Amino acid sequence: MTRPDRQTAEALAERLSGLDLTSRLNLIAAEIPGRLVFTTSLGVEDQALTHALAMAKLAAGQAKGRVEIVTLDTGRLFTETYDTWAETESAYGIRITAYAPERAAAEEFVRDEGINGFRRSVAARQACCGFRKVEPLGRALEGASGWLTGLRAGQSANRAETPLAEFDAARGLIKLNPLADWTRAQVDSFVRENFVPYNVLHDRGFPSIGCAPCTRAVKLGEPERAGRWWWEQEDKKECGLHVGRQVAHSAASVQPGQEPAVLEPAAFETIKTETHRQPEFAR
Ligand code: SF4
Repeated sequence: MTRPDRQTAEALAERLSGLDLTSRLNLIAAEIPGRLVFTTSLGVEDQALTHALAMAKLAAGQAKGRVEIVTLDTGRLFTETYDTWAETESAYGIRITAYAPERAAAEEFVRDEGINGFRRSVAARQACCGFRKVEPLGRALEGASGWLTGLRAGQSANRAETPLAEFDAARGLIKLNPLADWTRAQVDSFVRENFVPYNVLHDRGFPSIGCAPCTRAVKLGEPERAGRWWWEQEDKKECGLHVGRQVAHSAASVQPGQEPAVLEPAAFETIKTETHRQPEFAR
């Protein structure tokens, strides 16, 4: 691979199509030069990716350590998310690097808007996501040539065109979504079969998990991301991390049968197995 641009992303997306997850990650590691960053929210898709990276020894600090695993610690995450973070580091013998909000911005927002001021308006909510997520993401991706995510096309209408690889012109890098064409059922099976540690909130009706005050459990029949910023209109419900998409290759976009998921009763069955807490198997 030469430089990050639209043509390169299209060619890579084509090559990623049809590969299994480990082969996709190995190809990405081989083809993307320089800094490669995976931003994990510690949700179930990202846990599947962390597992695959760790088992392939691609996480920073491992034998072929090409991928820095980072997370955006907004300061408003669930206790269960922090527990998942610690458990994941322990299980795989890796470190997940935290990017926190700038202190001055956090203090100013809380002083001006109140501790939960993000509920006042969409603008206030976007401002909060701005300093707690978007600005730290910019620092996390500084100098990166590749950005790995756990996005799936089936997660929401906003993500229905998610390709396997795309050129992010604003950041000047290739964005890689190796689970773009996976269904939620595939992710859950992968996690179950490979004893991947995951956030226990997924077993309590939270298919998508963000900041604690902005995430609720969903009801039967609701879309996966209905519990995120539930007081807002569907088309406003992104935090600003995944915007400005320039689709490089549409083959991995949502396919028939992969439309944004509506939760069926089966989706409320727990992911867990009796061996859910599987310690230190990937060192
Ligand atoms: S999800 Fe809520 S608490 Fe978290 S950064 Fe966005 S508005 Fe703020």
